[in-house]
Amino acid sequence: MTQQITHSELDEAVKQSPRKWVYLFSEGNATMRELLGGKGAGVAEMTNAGLPVPPGFTITTEACNAYYEDNKQFPKGVWEQVKAALKVVEQQTGKSFGNKENPLLVSVRSGAKFSMPGMMDTVLNLGINDETVHGLIALTGDERFAYDAYRRFIQMFSKIVLDADPRDFEHVLDTYKEREGVKTDAEISAGALKQIVVEFKQVAEKSSGQSFPTDVYDQLHKAIEAVFSSWNNKRAIDYRNFNKIPHSLGTGVNVQTMVFGNMGNDSGTGVAFTRNPSTGEKVLYGEYLLNAQGEDVVAGIRTPSKISRLEEDLPAVYEQFQQIAERLEKHYRDMQDLEFTVEKGRLYMLQTRSAKRNAQAAVKVAVDMVREGLISEEEAVKRVEPSQVYQLLLPRFDEEDKKRATGSGRLLAKGLNASPGAAAGKAVFDADTAEDLGKKGVPVVLVRPETSPDDVHGMLVAKGILTARGGATSHAAVVARGLGLPCVAGTETLRVSESEKLFRVSGSDVVIKEGDDISIDGGTGEVFKGIIKTVDPDFDKEEDLKALLTWADKFRKLGVWANADYPRDAKRAVTFGAEGIGLCRTEHMFMEQERLPIVQKMILSKTSEERVVALDQLLPFQRADFKGLFESMVNPETGEGYPVVIRLIDPPLHEFLPSYEELLVDVTRLETQGGHEAELAEKKTMLEAVGAMREMNPMLGLRGCRLGLLFPEINVMQTRAILEAAAQVAKAGTKVYPKIMIPLVGHVNELKEVRRQLEAVAQEIAGELGGAIDYKFGTMIELPRAALTADQIATQADFFSFGTNDLTQTTFGYSRDDAEGKFLLRYVEGLDEPGAKEKVKILPVNPFQTLDRDGVGQLVAMAVEKGRRTNPNIELGICGEHGGDPDSIEFCNQVGLNYVSCSPFRVPVARLAAAQAALTRSEKDR
Ligand code: PEP
Ligand code: MG
Repeated sequence: MTQQITHSELDEAVKQSPRKWVYLFSEGNATMRELLGGKGAGVAEMTNAGLPVPPGFTITTEACNAYYEDNKQFPKGVWEQVKAALKVVEQQTGKSFGNKENPLLVSVRSGAKFSMPGMMDTVLNLGINDETVHGLIALTGDERFAYDAYRRFIQMFSKIVLDADPRDFEHVLDTYKEREGVKTDAEISAGALKQIVVEFKQVAEKSSGQSFPTDVYDQLHKAIEAVFSSWNNKRAIDYRNFNKIPHSLGTGVNVQTMVFGNMGNDSGTGVAFTRNPSTGEKVLYGEYLLNAQGEDVVAGIRTPSKISRLEEDLPAVYEQFQQIAERLEKHYRDMQDLEFTVEKGRLYMLQTRSAKRNAQAAVKVAVDMVREGLISEEEAVKRVEPSQVYQLLLPRFDEEDKKRATGSGRLLAKGLNASPGAAAGKAVFDADTAEDLGKKGVPVVLVRPETSPDDVHGMLVAKGILTARGGATSHAAVVARGLGLPCVAGTETLRVSESEKLFRVSGSDVVIKEGDDISIDGGTGEVFKGIIKTVDPDFDKEEDLKALLTWADKFRKLGVWANADYPRDAKRAVTFGAEGIGLCRTEHMFMEQERLPIVQKMILSKTSEERVVALDQLLPFQRADFKGLFESMVNPETGEGYPVVIRLIDPPLHEFLPSYEELLVDVTRLETQGGHEAELAEKKTMLEAVGAMREMNPMLGLRGCRLGLLFPEINVMQTRAILEAAAQVAKAGTKVYPKIMIPLVGHVNELKEVRRQLEAVAQEIAGELGGAIDYKFGTMIELPRAALTADQIATQADFFSFGTNDLTQTTFGYSRDDAEGKFLLRYVEGLDEPGAKEKVKILPVNPFQTLDRDGVGQLVAMAVEKGRRTNPNIELGICGEHGGDPDSIEFCNQVGLNYVSCSPFRVPVARLAAAQAALTRSEKDR
């Protein structure tokens, strides 16, 4: 039966409008994500590829944005185009919208450019009213089905469009279930459903204070408006803020012919991934429910079966689905997330999109696809988020502690392993409490009866998610994977009581209340009572990750070094692929127990001679420290040493002394008690010394290079320790590259003078050892004046390392120790403005985490340019926290630094981010 489909009415409506607002599925394609949203572009591409997609059309994201610009009015022409497109769908389906005999029912779904699972609204079964329901009965011969569809529509429409309280409807359903003596919705009789429909409409009107629309066009108009509005509901805004999705994109609206998965046991609905989104394994992974509608699967109301069961239930459908899945994956050259419905044995594809996946799967799928010849190494490198690499290196449970916990009966339950990783913290039972505590830094595990998109603000701060119902593809489980949060779902032995804020475990008398410690393993689905220790994963065994990073190394231009103070950290950094140490903070070594008293003696010395005595005692410790570092920083392939940047003492000296306030309390107490003369005298001396050294602004005081200029003996000792250690390691056969770095230089003369001191020591040592030791001399750029005069400073330095922690502090004038706790996070989160719907954001991001390109970045770029002007061979790196932040790494690549240096755990992240920065740059250059 081929029928000529005409678009003439739609073409005419478009002509009469300022713009084409509506695209039939056959008019779109995969490249139109921006305009049609991901879902719209996906169904269009599938339609054109000849796959079985129920006919429909997409209202563009531009229409959504125009709707907001027009004060929440449909822009001119939208409604006319919708009605005309609906005529085409009527022709395609042979059904008619609002028709008593042969009614067309549609779904109205959101779909933005970037997938935001469950954050926006959907209305199904639209087009039913008291008349068309009879048509539906006649068409299907199934009264129960028709009334069930009708009651679902009223329920959904009321919640989403009329803003009614969903609990009022659940209450009615519960009453009928009780009356009929049945447990599930599916068992309610047709007669009861018919009455429920009547009651639902009354409930809808009472709960919402609005009449329930009977006109199908009125229903459609309102539903489209509700989907537009849902772009700006709280959870959607929260989700976009967290995922850095621009608020200006708008959502598309897809109006599509309904197909029914709840028409008996030859029908069903499900979601499936072309590979396992938790492990990356190449097997069809997903869930479906026989005789159910889509929302039953995703909303986590019923726990679905594994997709492999479909092979037993409906083998022909399974085979067709498998072929389609394979075809779509090849077509998009990426793992897909598919939604499908089977209506009376016929398969329909409702959606395909790039699948959200956790870190492990992202890496494995990218690497496997290169090996399968589907994508190039470059594409694989671009596909994995650097933050996912970080997640892979996150702690897991300590096996021994976990065994002990299991052995002592602390294993409470086992649910679905919805998103891997270990989490331990206090159980909380609602998203608001999770948000409150989480923001205060309390580790929490959010426990919910079932996963629901409304929980997103709590999930964003939780360490993990635990649910009693819902599958591994329920919305919140999908969100958890996207966030890299451990999640255990569908733990059916838990009885969660939201009102009492506790859960019980079936078959035991265990009760976990709000605030009790629990631990979950999202990789195994286990739930434990109490806290289980976590451990670092073994990078050496992460073969896929190592392969990916080796490819990344081929593309990156930036070197990746590590900030490490101890041999243990240095060794780990080398394992992770670091090619040098960009910052060793020597003062950390001074803090160790056996050294602190000597350091204090040194600080409290009245004369240079006294100071030298104390420093002589410190020398062997420091030499051994540096020797350990040089020995650890060896290229495993060549056996040659990597460069090691050692920074001379930096913090204000009072950091090594007891606090003035505490000393004052002690002295006063000892004085009033009497009888402790010796102790009192000692404390008084200390109090006097500490008092004399007190500064109002120690971070801007006697610290950094200023210390070494006033107390040159410290620099002399540290330089000697570095060079002697280098000589010892070199003598043992390893070529070493020590680099001595001076902190907090603001004027070139400071550097000149320290350089003079050091050269004298180096010469002295060369005389003692009978030969010079190779070393480089450089400075940190961490004060605005240093950046501004970098041309002068560069004449005295072999290298610069940007200390962007202090540079951010001094450029913004924000104390790095206090700002985050006092106001900075509020700046980023936004301030409440009376009467305003949205918070007023002062800063887009925390500048101590992500380099502020406009301000601090300008100083960095200027220093790079000026430094190279007077010293073309100068080596440039960064060692502030920003060195491990992907966005800041991109900036470092752009301004042409030679390397970034970050904490060892961030080294793999930085390798990937540096490669991506180089690749996007080369794309832009082309
Ligand atoms: C910096 O200021 O960026 C830096 C690396 O030094 P520190 O954090 O030790 O002050
Ligand atoms: Mg600093």
